[in-house]
Formats: sequence, C-alpha cells, structure tokens
Amino acid sequence: MATARRDVDVADLVSRARDGSARAVARLISLVENDSPALREVAAALAPHGGNAQIVGLTGSPGVGKSTSTSAYVTALRSAGKRVGVLAVDPSSPFSGGALLGDRVRMQDHATDDGVFIRSMASRGQLGGLSAAVPQALRVLDAAGCDVVLVETVGVGQAEVEIASLADTTLLVLAPGFGDGIQAAKAGIIEIADIFVVNKADRDGADQVVRDLRYMQSLGGRHSAAGAWRPPIVKTVAARAEGVDDVVAAVEKHRGWLAEHGEQERRRTARAAAEIEAIALGTVRRRLGNVHGSSDLDAAAAQVVSGETDPYTAAEHLVAAL
Ligand code: GDP
Repeated sequence: MATARRDVDVADLVSRARDGSARAVARLISLVENDSPALREVAAALAPHGGNAQIVGLTGSPGVGKSTSTSAYVTALRSAGKRVGVLAVDPSSPFSGGALLGDRVRMQDHATDDGVFIRSMASRGQLGGLSAAVPQALRVLDAAGCDVVLVETVGVGQAEVEIASLADTTLLVLAPGFGDGIQAAKAGIIEIADIFVVNKADRDGADQVVRDLRYMQSLGGRHSAAGAWRPPIVKTVAARAEGVDDVVAAVEKHRGWLAEHGEQERRRTARAAAEIEAIALGTVRRRLGNVHGSSDLDAAAAQVVSGETDPYTAAEHLVAAL
C-alpha cells in the first residue's frame, strides 16, 4: 500500500486536472475506477472542487442513436464555449478504458479537442461495481472544470435507472422501430426522464413515437403534479445534427428549473446520501468478512442452524461487535 501511494502524487494530479490536463483526468479516473489505495486521498483532494458541472444522463436502447447524439451535443456545447466531459457507461461489458470508445461513442471528431474529456467505463473490477465508480469519475470530471458531463449508458433496464439517478438531467433517447415507449414504461424509465428525445425523426414512425409519449404523459405520474417539470419531447436527426440545439436548449431550461425549485440541491443531497450509504454498507460487509473473521459469521450461522439462536439476534450481536 505504501509503495502504491508513493507512485501517485495525488495533489499534483488534481492540480494538473484542474488546469485541464487530459492525462491527469484519465489517471485520476483510473485510480477511482480500480479501487486504488489512493482512492480516499483522491476523493478528499477532489471534494472542495466540485458542484459546478451539470450531469446529463443519456439512456435508451442500443441503436436509437445515443452515440451519434452524444457526439452532436458535444459539438453544440463546444461551440457554446463549454468544457465537456463524456462518460460512456456499459454495465454489461467487462471492458473499461479508452479502447472501446471508438465503438461506443462516435467521438473521432472530438479526439483532438482539449476542451473535451472522454472516457468509457464498464462493470469490471471495483467493489460495489459501476454504481460506486461512476460517481467518483463524475467528481473527477467536475473538478476538471467541465461545465457539462454527458453520461451515456447502454440499454434500458435497472442498471440504467440506477445510473440515470446520478444525473441532474436525464435524457431518454427513443427512435421509431424499437418498441421503446413500451419497454421504457415497463422499466419505469419514463418516470425518470426529464427530456424525451425522439431521434431518427427522418424515419417513418417518429410522429407515432411522439404521440405514444404524449399519451403516456397524459396518464399522469410524478410529472403531473402542480409546478412539476413537464418533460419536453424533442425530435432530432442526430446523424445530421438537426434538432440538437433544441435539445441543448431544453437541457439548459431544465438546469434553470432545477435551480429555481431547489431541486438541484435536493437531487445532489439525495445522491450524496446514497453514495455514503453504499460506502458505509461496503465497509460493514468487509468488516463482517475480514476484520471480524468469517469464523464469527460461520459460528453464528451454525448457532442459527442448530436452533440455539435466531438470525436477528445473531445479526445484532455481530453488528454490535463491529
Ligand atoms: P446507439 O447504439 O444508441 O449509441 O446508436 P448509434 O449512435 O450507434 O446509432 C445507431 C445507428 O443509427 C447508426 O448507424 C447511426 O448512423 C444511425 N443514426 C443515428 N442517428 C440517426 C438519425 O437521426 N437518423 C437515421 N436515419 N439514422 C441515425
């Protein structure tokens, strides 16, 4: 551990990341992703430098055009002078790092732009999985001065709902021909979307997707309460960058709404609470296994099996002894 620490000058990395060094940003994300011994030091060094970036999640089924859209948004945000981070998250992939980006995000246009940080992350490795690593990577990009961080996730499912909950603003990207409206409704993702993007508006069926969404919105849900944000539906042809400015404007409008209603603060506090809880639970789990010795757990299990005690009493004793 001491050796590993000596290799990393965390303060220097953070200072270079804040100056816009892409290498320092990449190195810091690797550290948090791999659950490095320097993780805590990195987290502590980043803590005073966050809270500026708007985290924008993009989710939707594979093939609807998320990567194409992400790339088009980056172009639009860059021409508005924003510094942008992109995190491509694939909960189903065992691979992380830079290599996959060519596949996942159509980012060639931005590869040489020093105002854009791009990174892909997968479920490999770290304790607690993606849900633990993604918030830390977001903190790195935030500290590096990104005005907006786009988090692109693959698929529509529970993992995506979880990751979408990390965002200030969640975009659900749909396209004609995917049966997406129904899938999304099933996965509960309609409820978490702040903006609906109906991409491939050059294709037949796009208007039907819009009508389906309007119908689903008319059925109520959290967005129907008085004063609630009513998610706009924006049509795009990402492949030709059409409608992209409307999406960027909707994202900006949502940022304003969040700030005005104290919702930004509420979301960020809820996220921090979930993060702390996950870390605390991970610590408890590790201690039950390691510090305490799994023999204590085994012994308690044997007592429960033999009927000497019940699982609630046994658990209480273990926790009390932590
Ligand atoms: P992802 O899997 O959701 O990231 O989708 P991609 O961005 O990889 O896009 C899937 C396919 O749809 C690619 O062949 C894109 O070129 C194409 N595509 C993306 N946007 C549009 C669009 O607006 N119209 C049409 N017709 N095709 C698009």
